[in-house]
Amino acid sequence: MSKRLTCSTTKKIYLSEGLAEDALIEARIQFDYPAGRGPIAVYQCQDCGYYHLTSQGMMNEKLKKYLASGNVEKQKEANRWLDKLKYK
Ligand SMILES: [Zn+2]
Repeated sequence: MSKRLTCSTTKKIYLSEGLAEDALIEARIQFDYPAGRGPIAVYQCQDCGYYHLTSQGMMNEKLKKYLASGNVEKQKEANRWLDKLKYK
């Protein structure tokens, strides 16, 4: 079995910056964060050496582009329709 990764920050660990960015974008699609709330960036942790999400600092460039493209809103709309179909 692989060793369980832990960090003193207790935040979820991502093994690469790319995986953290994917998770960041996924989080914005899954949850309706109020403006100015929720994770906006990823950073390399001084403690564990891996990556975490953060709500502090400058917005991640990939996320910024994704939000600007309108894909998040489109994806949310698609999810709403899937929910309707599922629970009807
Ligand atoms: Zn860490």
